[in-house]
Amino acid sequence: MKKETRLAHHPRAKLPRGNESLVEPVYRSVKFTYEDIASSLTPEARDEGFDYTRDANPTTRQLEQLTAELQGRDDAVCVSTGMASAWLAALGNLRAGDRIVCFLESYRPIRVMVRQRLSRLGISHSLPSVHDLQGLEEIFAADETRCLIFEAPTNPMVQVPDIGAITSLARAHGVSTILDNTFGGLHNHGQFEIDYYIHSLTKYASGHGDVMGGVVIADRERLGELKPLATNMGATLDPGAAFLILRGLRTYALRYRRHSESALALADFLSGHPRVERVFYPGLKDDPGHELASKQMGDGYGCVLSFDLRGDGERAWKFIDALELFATVASIGSTESLVAPVKLYFAGDLSEEECARAGIGDNTVRLAVGLEDPGDLIADLEQAFAAAFG
Ligand SMILES: *Cc1c(COP(=O)(O)O)cnc(C)c1O
Repeated sequence: MKKETRLAHHPRAKLPRGNESLVEPVYRSVKFTYEDIASSLTPEARDEGFDYTRDANPTTRQLEQLTAELQGRDDAVCVSTGMASAWLAALGNLRAGDRIVCFLESYRPIRVMVRQRLSRLGISHSLPSVHDLQGLEEIFAADETRCLIFEAPTNPMVQVPDIGAITSLARAHGVSTILDNTFGGLHNHGQFEIDYYIHSLTKYASGHGDVMGGVVIADRERLGELKPLATNMGATLDPGAAFLILRGLRTYALRYRRHSESALALADFLSGHPRVERVFYPGLKDDPGHELASKQMGDGYGCVLSFDLRGDGERAWKFIDALELFATVASIGSTESLVAPVKLYFAGDLSEEECARAGIGDNTVRLAVGLEDPGDLIADLEQAFAAAFG
């Protein structure tokens, strides 16, 4: 064999029988073959075999199986980002003429998908408040309502939807439910009758802010119907990214707990602070969402909290700019702490009236608490208050 040929046909480092790597390898291969055509047509090959990575890949498959089990469902399909998972679940459920419902308090790109993009495909929408169950029922009662996409808790104002009440309304009216469970996490909310869970794996799952991914999780039948669309759409998760997310998940439980404990410590500090008007964090005992979140989630309420600073928008920007340990950027669930001016970063598509209904002011600040020492973070907040109010 000439060297040029060898470069295209590498030797294999084969493991002896029974000799396994403790961490599974990354299957970087796009293609998988069999010795002959007949072996590629056996029932086992057809059900569980691999052919082309846009359809399926062993590393990505491992991540699909793990995330499905953590969420308490049969199966999952991984895609390239959290937004791709939102699109996949939405497109899999909608036809021209249908209506989709999302809450006013939703993550901005999801609102944009619903109001600006899906509308062009002939799909109408309604945008009630997450707390308006009566309004929701009226919308569900309209014939053309096909699906609801919502978050628990919501990004950025950490509002807690009543998932049980919402899902029973949806069931009663034949509306499919898509829960963006990115904030709740893979270990939470599995007990509810949700049809599709979507997650940005970019956040808590990967945990280190160095890789993007998304997943749709559902029962076998629903997922089986969605999978051909995912394959055809081609928003496949790269196996290298899947490997990094699998690595992140090894410490997921520890990190989610720590994120939650630190966020609660910061929320406590902020709610006693004279420069703070109001804190939004369901972990606080006097938060309107506390009781519901405590019933719906396990231990911990996640890393995100928002608060209204006592002062105008200019004061809030001063405060944000003065923070040293918090990077000013959107995103959540990675090792380092982040801060964002809520109206500027998450509400550009909302009118003043909609902002007011969503509880978003010029002085609203969102924190995504990282894994640093919480005492250091509190000291940083304190010095930034001093700098801003000086
Ligand atoms: C970040 C995020 C997404 C989108 O995820 P990407 O991986 O950035 O595409 C969707 N929903 C929520 C609640 C998020 O926080």
